[in-house]
Order: sequence, then C-alpha cells, then structure tokens
Amino acid sequence: MQHLESPSQHASAYPVSLRCPSCRQIGVFTGHQNVTDLNWKSSNSGSIALRHAGVRICPNSDCRAIVFVVVQANDILETYPLQLIDFDASSLPAPILRSLEEAILCHGAGAYRASALMVRRVLEELCEDRKAAGKDLFARLQALKSSVIIPTELFEAAHELRLLGNDAAHIEAKSYDDITEIEASLALELAKELLKAVYQYTSLVARMRAMKKQ
Ligand SMILES: [Zn+2]
Repeated sequence: MQHLESPSQHASAYPVSLRCPSCRQIGVFTGHQNVTDLNWKSSNSGSIALRHAGVRICPNSDCRAIVFVVVQANDILETYPLQLIDFDASSLPAPILRSLEEAILCHGAGAYRASALMVRRVLEELCEDRKAAGKDLFARLQALKSSVIIPTELFEAAHELRLLGNDAAHIEAKSYDDITEIEASLALELAKELLKAVYQYTSLVARMRAMKKQ
C-alpha cells in the first residue's frame, strides 16, 4: 500500500520493464501521452526517495494491456494487476491448469502458504491423472518417476521441500507456517518441470513421431 506523504506533482511517464500480467511477455511498457505520472517524495528509514505512480501499456500489439505501476528509480514497488511467474499452459489437463494458475496467483500476491498448498494439489492431480499410486505424495512422485523423462537429481532434491512432505503429518507439524518466498518459488518451478516432463515432452515427441510417418 502506497501513501502520499508530500505535496504531489505531475510528470510524464517513463518506460518500465515488466512481465505483462495479461500476455505474460516481458517488455518495456511505456506511458500514454495523455496520462501523466503522480510523483511524490517518500521517506523510508530516514532517507527520502522519489516515487512515481501511473499507468503503462503493454508493448505487445496483440495485447496492449493497461497496468498500474508504482516505481522508485529502477525498482518496481507495485503493479496492478500483479506480475506473475510465467508458465507453459500447452497440453495441460484443465483441472491441473486451474490449480497451477491459482498457485501462481497466490505467489504473485505474496500468499506463499496458499501457493504451496496449491502446488501440492497440482502434484496430487498430476499423480492421479497418471495413475501414480503410493502411500503419500512422495511415494506417488517416486512412482511417477518410472514413467516420465526427468533427471533423478530433480526428484531427489524435491525431498528438501518441506511442503511436499508427509501429508497431514506435516500440516499438523506446522511446516507450512513459515513457507518463504524462495521455497514457494522453488516448489512452483519443480511443479512446472514435472508438468513439462509429463505433458509437454510427450506432446513434442508425439508430434515429431507423426512427422516421421508422413
Ligand atoms: Zn501484454
């Protein structure tokens, strides 16, 4: 939340680099000629910094989304809608895509525990879709390992993520209470890699094999 602390003045909007909340491309967003930024001085721990708030427009001609930004020098303090982690939605089953999008939305909003729970759900749905059985999520992921192309090291490192741990026992042990941004981001990256291995490599391999038959 931004607060205006000193008299405001208006200035023309300067370009900022963003990942578009709508088309998810990275680009240099510029302002609109008829819309000026609101500028103000903000005091933070004794130092004074100039902040700007205004609208910027996506440079992608198919998108042209309007994004509200608050910036200080080269730092983007806030955007609305939120900037979100990029992901590849191709070939994902609809329920898994819905859960993944929700995990990414929670992450973008800083709701890391909620994001971690949704990542877990993504992985549960993935195992269910691929009929990977086992007594808990880890066992199910291990079962999945035998049928997908993914480095063994990635599965082993996944053990380090507490949020993928032993189901209800971990929730009772409050493993989720101190999920950090880093852990939530890593869990999302792992989920994206597993989804890529299961759905997107398979789709690529099938398309290439189809070429051979032509
Ligand atoms: Zn865009």
